[in-house]
Amino acid sequence: MTLADFMAACLLDPVHGYYTTRDPLGRGGDFITAPEVSQMFGELIGLCLAQSWVDQGAPDAFALAEAGPGRGTLMADILRATKGVPGFHAAARAHLIEASPTLRAAQATRVPEAVWLDRTDDLPDLPLYLVANEFCDALPVRQFRRDGAGWREVVVGLQDATLSFGLTEAAPLAALSHRLDDTRDGDVVELCPALAPFAATLGDRIARHGGAALIIDYGDWTSLGDTFQAVRDHAATDPLADPGAADLTAHVDFAAIAAACAPARHTRLTPQGVFLERLGIAQRAQALAAGLTGQALEAHITAHRRLTHPAEMGDLFKVIGIYPDGAAPPPGLTA
Ligand code: SAH
Repeated sequence: MTLADFMAACLLDPVHGYYTTRDPLGRGGDFITAPEVSQMFGELIGLCLAQSWVDQGAPDAFALAEAGPGRGTLMADILRATKGVPGFHAAARAHLIEASPTLRAAQATRVPEAVWLDRTDDLPDLPLYLVANEFCDALPVRQFRRDGAGWREVVVGLQDATLSFGLTEAAPLAALSHRLDDTRDGDVVELCPALAPFAATLGDRIARHGGAALIIDYGDWTSLGDTFQAVRDHAATDPLADPGAADLTAHVDFAAIAAACAPARHTRLTPQGVFLERLGIAQRAQALAAGLTGQALEAHITAHRRLTHPAEMGDLFKVIGIYPDGAAPPPGLTA
């Protein structure tokens, strides 16, 4: 099977899938995400979306949405931080796009008033203010190794009753013809089949109804090299060793998002640390620090550093915004 089929089965199989059967987040879990590191992340995202809503004339009914909301922490922080924005809560309806029943239950404890959706396509025809943090890296990727003017696809199969990687025969591939210019023999590129349709849905809705989307993830402008990885218990592990028991991800190809979101516009790709600093994380961190002492203060300082420092999440994670033609880009991002 292709790597994408393997990834999809491992992550979302109804009985054995990684996300379907567990809550993988937090210190006791396998990995930790920005909203779980500090409340400041969700607060600033919330104010960014609310300012964008104000900038677009404060439409009186809109979908406040999150794709892949994990434990619901980010949406809960967004809602708490925007309570004081006049009219925002009255106009907003929270929508959570989530495939895992286990995580839906966790989200319901934090955002009980939300509406749950299976797919982005099911969002209502309203202005859309959406965030997706570490969602796109969970979308399955196919992997190809360049061989002359063709490509050999990485596949997963059984060899002597053991899961192993293999390669198909080389063949030309129209979907990768644009990569013949910037790759060499032996290079690996990844294609995420679900990514462009996701960005296209956001772009179409935002162009038609207004709104903004913030997509935050690890990755870069183009995909180059093998970024497929498995993480378990906060450490890298063999992706074939124990299917369904480890988180499987790949870096996000932001150029594919940018290309697919027309007729909406997209911002420049911006490092997470720069984005959060522009939104005022230093001031927010200081205000919170004033109420803390001892270990809690130490943890808060560490969390701030973790979100923004280039050697931690600040540079590896990037943000791209999607917004309508004629509107201002979301705060913290530039056209
Ligand atoms: N955004 C959260 C969680 C990231 S983990 C945070 O920052 O903490 C990835 C999330 O995406 C999980 O909630 C997972 O169940 C969900 N997910 C993965 N693939 C999905 C798909 N195809 N459709 C909907 N949700 C998906």
